[in-house]
Amino acid sequence: MRALSVPELLGAWESGLTQGPVERVLTLLGAACPELPRDSLALLSIGQRDARLLTLREWTFGSRVDSLVPCPRCGERLELTFNVADVRVDGEAPPELPVAVAEYVLRLRPPNSTDIAALAAEPSVERKRRLLFERCLIEAHRDGQDAPPETLPAEALDTAARHMAEADPQADIQLDIACSHCGERWRSVFDIAAFFWIEIEAWACRILREVHTLASAYGWSERDILALTPARRQAYLEMAGA
Ligand SMILES: [Zn+2]
Repeated sequence: MRALSVPELLGAWESGLTQGPVERVLTLLGAACPELPRDSLALLSIGQRDARLLTLREWTFGSRVDSLVPCPRCGERLELTFNVADVRVDGEAPPELPVAVAEYVLRLRPPNSTDIAALAAEPSVERKRRLLFERCLIEAHRDGQDAPPETLPAEALDTAARHMAEADPQADIQLDIACSHCGERWRSVFDIAAFFWIEIEAWACRILREVHTLASAYGWSERDILALTPARRQAYLEMAGA
């Protein structure tokens, strides 16, 4: 993986405009990981994918993360600042995971982008959970015999979900938050894929505005303006009175 140039990041943003959340993350990583075909990226576990996204985010916008989180009790919008390193988890999900529950022995793989994309249109959370489990189930045995997925009890799903989450911890970043206003404490999920994309959208709008300003002032082409370093672009923007 490598850092993206300004034109490459802008290109990924443009391609992602017409794509769903899972697809545009693959577009972004595909631009940064030319050594990996898109199909291989789609088969990374969500934790492996998010580890790459954290690195790419660090290379693109720095290691400091600033976000706003509304307090679920009083509604106050809290400023949350942390470093990418604070949410980075060591270790990668194993390709397969054995899980024993009651009289069943299961073999599962961690969820990947193809699973998330396949389930995106399913409105029922419960059904989505069952479908994800069935997609990730490699095999299930009971007393040495094959056990069809639909015969497995809810307890097997719960245990399997817990084991899979533990085996791929980077896929589920949770932050401990305390409200400075009312004292409420809770855990909030930090979704690097959604967060990074929102940042890229804001960045792209700013860059395009800057191109517009400089092109209008100096008659330069988009390509020439995007090739400027941020410091020079800023200096010319100031001289152009922007
Ligand atoms: Zn509060």
